[in-house]
Formats: sequence, C-alpha cells, structure tokens
Amino acid sequence: MRDAILKYVLQNAIKYSGKANPKAVLGKFLAENAEYRKNAKEVLSIIEELSKEVEKLSVEEQIAKLKEIAPEMLEEDKGKKEKDKDLELKDVKGKVIMRFAPNPSGPLHIGHARAAVLNDYFVKKYGGKLILRLEDTDPKRVLPDAYDMIKEDLEWLGVKVDEIVIQSDRMHIYYEYGKKLIEMGHAYVCACNPEEFRELRNKGIPCKCRERDIEENLELWEKMLNGEIENVAVRLKTDIKHKNPSIRDFPIFRIEKTPHPRTGDKYVVYPLMNFSVPIDDHLLGMTHVLRGKDHIVNTEKQSYIYNHFGWEMPEYIHYGILKIEGMVLSTSKMHEGIKEGIYKGWDDPRLGTLRALRRRGIKSEAIYEIMKRIGIKQADVRFSWENLYAINKDIIDKDARRFFFVENPKKVVVKDAEKEVLHLRMHPDNKELGTRELIFDGEIYVADELEEGKMYRLMELFNIVVEKVENNIIYTKYHSRDFKTGRENKAKIIHWIPTKDCIKTIIIDTDAKEHIGFAEKDFKVVNVDEIVQFERVGFVRVDNKKDDEVICYFAHK
Ligand code: GLU
Repeated sequence: MRDAILKYVLQNAIKYSGKANPKAVLGKFLAENAEYRKNAKEVLSIIEELSKEVEKLSVEEQIAKLKEIAPEMLEEDKGKKEKDKDLELKDVKGKVIMRFAPNPSGPLHIGHARAAVLNDYFVKKYGGKLILRLEDTDPKRVLPDAYDMIKEDLEWLGVKVDEIVIQSDRMHIYYEYGKKLIEMGHAYVCACNPEEFRELRNKGIPCKCRERDIEENLELWEKMLNGEIENVAVRLKTDIKHKNPSIRDFPIFRIEKTPHPRTGDKYVVYPLMNFSVPIDDHLLGMTHVLRGKDHIVNTEKQSYIYNHFGWEMPEYIHYGILKIEGMVLSTSKMHEGIKEGIYKGWDDPRLGTLRALRRRGIKSEAIYEIMKRIGIKQADVRFSWENLYAINKDIIDKDARRFFFVENPKKVVVKDAEKEVLHLRMHPDNKELGTRELIFDGEIYVADELEEGKMYRLMELFNIVVEKVENNIIYTKYHSRDFKTGRENKAKIIHWIPTKDCIKTIIIDTDAKEHIGFAEKDFKVVNVDEIVQFERVGFVRVDNKKDDEVICYFAHK
C-alpha cells in the first residue's frame, strides 16, 4: 500500500512546488482506489509520513523518483499543459488586437468572464492590445454605474485593459460612415412600418423605399439627425432574397428619443449593434474577435458592411454556448430584483455576478482558470459550479485557518470532567498558521441533538454520556478518554465550543439564508476578507466584523 500511495504523494508534491497536501492526496487516492475507503485514517497517516519524507527531496529529485516508479503519472500532468497549448488562435501574424465589448447595463457576471478571460489570455500570450469597448448605443439599456463596475470587475479578474473605448463618444464616427453608405447607394432611409416591411421582406420583395435616390435619402438622413422626422430607420442593402429573412436589408440606424445617461438628448439617431460593432472592429484594428455561436448570424450581417467598404474582416471566432444554470444571470432580472428589494444588491449571493462570487470567497484565479479550461471549443458546454468550487478549494485550502462553528447552539453541561486547555492547529498541514486555544470548563455548545443514554465523543477531547435533557439544557457525564472506547460504543464524534467567550457568527448561504450560531473564541482573530474553513460546514469569507458579531458568506464545502 505504501508504494501505491507514494506515487500520489510525489505527484501532488511536484504539482505544488515540492510540498504535498496530505488531504488532497487522500482525496485523489481514495477516488481512484475505492477499496481503501474503509481504511481512510490509516491511509492518511501513511500519506502524512510519506509527505514529510518526500518534502526533503528537491522537486527535480521528486520528478526523477516518480518517473522511476510511475511515469504515467507524470504524463497526466503534462496532459494539462498540452491542453493549454490547445488554446491557440489561428493566423497570428505578430501582435494581436482584441476587444472585450460588454453592454454597460450592469456589472459583469460569470457568463461575461469567458470572453474577458480568453481575450486577456490571448493578448498576453501573443502580445498586443486589449480594448475594453463599452457598447452603450441603446440608451434604454444603460446603467450609469455599470461603466465603473465593469472596470472594477475586470481589474479584480486580472484582465489587463490597454485602452477603453465608449461607443457613445463615437457617434460622429457612426454618422460619418452611415452617410458614406448612403452616398455609395448601399443604405437607404426606410419609412415603411415595420410590420409591412417584414411581410414584404419575408416574401423576398424590396419595399418602395429601397428605390429612393441617393439625394433624397441624404435629405431624409439629415432630417433624422435633426429630429425632424420620426418612424424611420436606415437599412443596409444586403440580399433581398437571402435564405435567412432576418439578414435581408437589416436596419443599421434607428430613432430613439430616450435621453442617454452620458449624452442626454444630444442624439436621437443611434446605430444598431450590427453597424457599430463592425465599424469599430475595423477602425480599432481588431485582428481576432471572440464571440459565441449565438452571434453567427450577426457575423454574417456584419460581413455586408465589410464588403460595402471593401474592408478585410478580422478573424471572427465563434465558440460554443456555455450553459450556466443555478444562478440568476439575466441583467434585467437582477436589476428588477434589486429595485424591488428582492436582492440586496449586485453582490447578493443568489446572483451570478463576479462581485457576488467575490463576496462569497471565490477567487478570481479560480474563475480565470475554469474559463481557460472551457476555452474556445465549438461544442456547447454546461458550466459546472462544482468544478469551479474544486479549483477554488485547491487555491484557498492551504491558507484557510480552521475553526469550529456551532449552528443553533444547544447548551451541554459535562459533569466529572476537569478543566482542560487545548491547543489545536489552525491548519492540519500548514504549521505556520499557528494554534488556537479551546478551554474546556464544564459547559459547552453543540449543534447536534443529543439523545439520552447515548455516548458521544467530543472532538479532540473525550467521551461523554447523556444523562438527561431538561429546560433545553443537556446534562452529560464524562465517560472515558480514549478513542477506542468511543468507537466501540458507536459514539458519534461531535463538534463543540466552550460557552465562555464564544462569538456570535452568522453565515449567509447561497440562497441568502442566515445560519446563526457561535464560533470559538479565537475566531475573533480573523480579518475581514479572510477565507476560513468551519470544519464540517465549509469555506466561508469573513464579510463584516463587529465586537460581538461576525458575518460570513458561504463559499462552498
Ligand atoms: N456588445 C455585444 C455583446 O455583448 C458585442 C458582442 C460581439 O460583437 O461579439 O453581446
């Protein structure tokens, strides 16, 4: 068994710069060798022993040893690096220019993170420039705070933005190129009512506006810009018989009188996405554009603009759809919910925004990593929160201090036991995190319901037997110290904390439900923003700390 375990210890140590994490090794070993599950304790002590031995070797020596006894396990790790190599762009000639182009209607959510991370990844990989382009040409869908929130979110995510472009600053550019298209005879002002237009279009018949001459179109265009006419749009001439009716003479400008949060009522004519996006992608010099498969029809529409101007198209890369379930992601639903008071804010733990995940203790590195793993594959993928949590756990586990938390505390009196001062490690493997003190003095809190007559083992302490429960107080008696007696009597091992000096603690879970209880006294040493593990509960991030109360957000198990 030692030999079988050694491979795993070496593999883990190599992965983490020479030092193995026994719990992680145990998890992997048992997952792949289920027959040892019943001996988990014994396995763990062998792992701990081997980890200490392995630690004495240099990483090179560890690699040499693993190569000797299980070369396939070295390959396994190489596999991951190979995958990184898969994350490549085609046709890279020198530096790349890429953009991340969200609509400022709210902060970024986990769905945005894919494009943000992968653009950043490629720009860093090949060298070049990443432009953040805020697409705010629909005044109805602009949230003024979102401009800053998006910048903050990207900074937190580790995405390096080289230049920021706001589309509402570029209206004159869209007007200039719109006018050019009209002058070239590629676009026209259409006064048909949308219903009528659609009917004709669906039959592949041009509307009468398409025949209007250029002079007249230019006059109408000026009138549009001056707000002198309404109920018109500018359409691009495409192929009126195109197999996809939505591509037939699609609109590129529309009238919108809602004041814009940044420019007020200065403009009443706004470009539509399928116009402003290709104009900007071209003028800003994009070499590669990442977008979801849901944009394939848009890319085809936009190709007409490139053709009319005789421009070369950047490389548009369409990746598969990422299906994300289990969190609220629709910006408009989130916004409504916040306004109605259902959600407490953009960082409410029920929401899938980056700021909500951050508040819960999900590290940006974990999000970056999972998005790299998802990559730019064509196939649709389902997002796995479990995978995200596993990656996050790998990052936070080694520094998270451990504490006891007792939810719905029940008072227990223990007779016949002397006062004892326990020093427990803050972390099972990381000694540098120091120790914490638990003073047992006859009165404790537990979370479990204890039954009369039964034996229980107080974790790290001794075995007790319940005598009676009266007025919500559980009266018990010391029974024995050794672990063996507890096991023979099938004593459940329970967490406990001394009643004295404990601190009221609230854990807010992912449904925004509050779990109220007490944490041990030394929990007071934690800092706001620190991530700790409450044993048996899971990892939480300390959000707020007062003298008599600590509020935490639940991250994951
Ligand atoms: N603002 C658009 C979006 O977020 C741009 C997407 C694109 O052109 O690729 O959907």
